[in-house]
Amino acid sequence: MGKNDTVELLKGLHIFDSTLRDGAQGEGISFSVQDKLNIVRALDELGVAFIEAGNPGSNPKDLEFFGEVGKLKLENSRLVAFGSTRRKDIAVTDDPNLRSLLAAGTEYVAIFGKTWDFHVTDILRATKEENLSMIEDTIRFLVAEGRKVVYDAEHFFDAYLANPEYSMETLRAAVSGGASLLALCDTNGGTMPDDVQRITALVSRECNVPVGIHCHNDAGLAVANSIMAVKAGATQVQGTLIGIGERTGNANLSTIIADLELKLGMPCLPKGKIASLTHVSRRVAETANISLDGGMPFVGLNAFAHKAGMHIDAVTKNPKAYEHVAPDSVGNERSFLMSEVAGRSMIIEKIRKFDSNIQKDSPVAAQIVARVKELEHAGYQFEGAEGSFELLVRKNIGKYRPFFDLQYYKIIGEQPLDGVSATAFAQIKIGVEGEMAITAGEGDGPVHALDVALRKALERFYPGVKEIRLTDFKVRVLDSKSATAAKVRVLIESTDGNHVWSTVGVSSDLIEASWLALVDSFEYKLISDVEKRFKAYL
Ligand SMILES: [Zn+2]
Repeated sequence: MGKNDTVELLKGLHIFDSTLRDGAQGEGISFSVQDKLNIVRALDELGVAFIEAGNPGSNPKDLEFFGEVGKLKLENSRLVAFGSTRRKDIAVTDDPNLRSLLAAGTEYVAIFGKTWDFHVTDILRATKEENLSMIEDTIRFLVAEGRKVVYDAEHFFDAYLANPEYSMETLRAAVSGGASLLALCDTNGGTMPDDVQRITALVSRECNVPVGIHCHNDAGLAVANSIMAVKAGATQVQGTLIGIGERTGNANLSTIIADLELKLGMPCLPKGKIASLTHVSRRVAETANISLDGGMPFVGLNAFAHKAGMHIDAVTKNPKAYEHVAPDSVGNERSFLMSEVAGRSMIIEKIRKFDSNIQKDSPVAAQIVARVKELEHAGYQFEGAEGSFELLVRKNIGKYRPFFDLQYYKIIGEQPLDGVSATAFAQIKIGVEGEMAITAGEGDGPVHALDVALRKALERFYPGVKEIRLTDFKVRVLDSKSATAAKVRVLIESTDGNHVWSTVGVSSDLIEASWLALVDSFEYKLISDVEKRFKAYL
């Protein structure tokens, strides 16, 4: 890529992700070399223009990473190595950090320098003139070595507000050294949006190179400040994809990207890439080993989840009623949460599956809503347990019949002789229309053993149960603060090869909770089979 191409690239609106550098400063974040490679792949898939990949001078892990990452074939992104201006009192050619920076072998480098006079004199303990030559020398040296330099003006907004003349002098030093872009940093994260807009506009007018913006979120304004800077002429937006970073984090790029593209009509990714925003954000969160905040704009699990009954009712009529953009525009999904406030319309919809005559104000609807509330209070959750919810509705509208009665079950745990497989035995006795069946089952744990025994007992009467397979089993301890009152919620997912359904059970006893979820699973299957046969006769 020639020099002019670079200028064109930097002049157009684009994204500079610092998850691997500034993001790595976040509390509890620690990336292995493999994690970093995965994140680079994900960001390249999303199509960010630049990936700031770390500081090769600061630790050997980063230098090893630059060796590995060079082997990746990236489609959209360019890697950037990060470092600081030369140390005071030494020549650029003698600075070991600058040598490591060159060793990283990236076409682009980002260099940060001091712009706030108070930092120069009180923290760096250098003269203001020395600082100016540190900036200019460093950039000139790197440019002479064939690098394109993004200059990060640390604390720029605080610096400008404290001493506008000196802060502008530092930028002029960077430009005269040959910087390709000036990134204005709100390093302490405390600047207000109108100041960011005013100062960015001024720098864009006065300096003859493209300008970037780098915000931190200490005042909760990193996204707003970044947007204001773009409106004032900044073309590069720096941040971290999911907002991780020191203290309160960096500007959240997933939010900024969606705002720029969907709200302001300012494309900042290659065409169509925004549809992978949710997926890539979740992958980065997973690699960083943090759970993505459900309420994160655009990409969070709840970004398009509707709970209040009136809202659900409205959204089913027209999504625009409570959604500012379509969920699939960022690759997310709309969801409805079942809950105490779910209101009736959701439940009515479901009831109508079984009885198309039911009316919105019918007493049975109120009865079901009340029952859902009661069960939720006891620890049930019907989100992700549609099978159990359907049975609950059936029980209330008279479209349910029990398929068997349980006489007893018994579990015996066995210490394995080989020390490997934990075995459990279950014995159960059930009655089906007056006939009794007693069976035993063996499994790797009590739930598996119960499943085997129940299946054996029912097969004789209902051959369809042979098709059921349990595909997932989740246990969640509720009220974990008070151990004596602790309850467990068991969620089971089952399939018969054609359908998948989930059921739930809650009890203070794990086996009892599992049994309840298991019985729902079998009953759901049996009831569905009976209905199919009934329909076939019609
Ligand atoms: Zn920063």
